[in-house]
Amino acid sequence: MSVAKQLYQLQEIDLELESNERALNQIVSQLGESEAVVKTQNKLALEHQRLEELSRQQHSMEWEIDGIATKLTTVEEELYSGRIRNPKELANLQHEIDGLKAKRNQLEDKALEIMDQVELATKGVATINSELKALEAEWQSQQQQLSAQLEQLKSLLSNLKHKRQLLTAEIDPQAIEVYHALKRQKETAVAKVEQGICRGCRISLPVTELQEARSGSLVRCSSCGRILFLA
Ligand SMILES: [Zn+2]
Repeated sequence: MSVAKQLYQLQEIDLELESNERALNQIVSQLGESEAVVKTQNKLALEHQRLEELSRQQHSMEWEIDGIATKLTTVEEELYSGRIRNPKELANLQHEIDGLKAKRNQLEDKALEIMDQVELATKGVATINSELKALEAEWQSQQQQLSAQLEQLKSLLSNLKHKRQLLTAEIDPQAIEVYHALKRQKETAVAKVEQGICRGCRISLPVTELQEARSGSLVRCSSCGRILFLA
């Protein structure tokens, strides 16, 4: 095999290696925490907190209403016990009962409002929860796919590296040095020659250069400097 052909094959392997390495980096950057999941987790925690606060309010209000009911019973018992005859004292007791009932009604209205809010917050928590579950499931299947792709790419890359090692072992080290120097300058070091034209710079090659390249020796394009490869 001519040196030019060997170097052309090396270039093909390097291009494949580079594109697969780019794909691998792309996948690595997509692996890990999901922003959407974290955001929804935070949203859920906040709604949870709100629901707990509302439940606390609801309970303390229920306690308060119970306390008033107990007090009402005591005062009413006293009023109807017959022990008190003094009209002024009786009027005072009646006044106290009216006040307690008004307070109880007020608290009961407020308790109903809070109950509505608790109901809404409970629904909110359930909605966000199912949103989160869907996002997590989607993220998990995406991560699984990415992990599988990553494994495939890793084994592909290791095969390519092995192939590259075998090939470079056969190539003259000086030719490889030329190849690397050109690759740093021009990205593609080896140019195919098609119909007498260098595919690297699209210029027609002189007949002598073509003949030299055909003979199998390492010839570089007089125009762009790339190594010429005649298929
Ligand atoms: Zn050229």
